Amino acid sequence: MEIRECKKCGFVLSTRPNLKEVDGVCSACINHEKKKSIDFASRQAWLTQYIKENKTHEKYDCLVAVSGGKDSTTIIRKLFENHEVKKVLLVNLTEEFTHTQAGVHNLNNLVKRYNCDLITFRINPEELAASMRHGLTEYLNPLKWLEEQIYQVPLDIAKNYGIKLVFYGENPEYEYGSNEELEIFHHASTDDLRIIYMGAIYPYSAQEWYKLASEVGFRDLNYYNEWQRHGQIENYSQIDSIGYNMGVWTKFPKFGFQRVSDMACRFVRDGVLTKAQARKLIMEQDYICDPSSKRDFCRAAGITEQYFDEMVDKHANPDLVEKDINGVWRRKDLL
Ligand SMILES: [Zn+2]
Repeated sequence: MEIRECKKCGFVLSTRPNLKEVDGVCSACINHEKKKSIDFASRQAWLTQYIKENKTHEKYDCLVAVSGGKDSTTIIRKLFENHEVKKVLLVNLTEEFTHTQAGVHNLNNLVKRYNCDLITFRINPEELAASMRHGLTEYLNPLKWLEEQIYQVPLDIAKNYGIKLVFYGENPEYEYGSNEELEIFHHASTDDLRIIYMGAIYPYSAQEWYKLASEVGFRDLNYYNEWQRHGQIENYSQIDSIGYNMGVWTKFPKFGFQRVSDMACRFVRDGVLTKAQARKLIMEQDYICDPSSKRDFCRAAGITEQYFDEMVDKHANPDLVEKDINGVWRRKDLL
């Protein structure tokens, strides 16, 4: 099988489920260009009024699902600074991974700076561990169930509280190219529950949202110098807990890309990196599995690292990856 890359950003083509292409350009690049013609200012003006008209709870204007990360911080900042929001209910789903100091600080910062109520929903450890083992063994997708919970639990809480508006961050279907329209509402929205992507109201950019969050107290991993991540090219995305990163890394043996490809190609679209610079980062770092993350994941899942490696070998796609001289899975065309 020939491994091809997007002509513009260099992302590996035909392996991400639902990533389309036109003349060798990936749909994430096409969508990025289309963003320039979207009238975000009118969407922002619309939102302020919409929030007012759809306040269904006497206290809370809306509910925001938060990890405490840069995106949660930017969503909250926008709501308070630009949309006349007075009170927000935060819902944070937590698991059994080791949490970083930065992650703890960032969630705390949100609660204190914006004076929010926070519900922490902690999943029971056994069901979570079983779901991770199942996802790993069957599909090499160990966090599938957890990610569904992270999405669903805030919606259930919103319904129970009678809060109609829920905010999420980027619209992943648009940013990753599986949907051509930057839709404001999540498709699961109903008459009683409206799920809004803030990344459809303000143009989403990982770097820009990181900057906006940093201005209101968000801290990255460098602040505490607590974890120099491997297989990553920035220190501000998905930094809340250590083992969680394995959900993304496990895409590499199956699809030939993980976080470095995702971020490097975003940076190309944003004009921060050239395609050649991105390709070098992808070649040198995308395959690397962070040892701390793997250890923390295996502990929480109740498995040995040897079992983890066996499952990676079982699911690796031999059309895309092969083992190098050290027994490490690498993209075939980049060896
Ligand atoms: Zn592309």
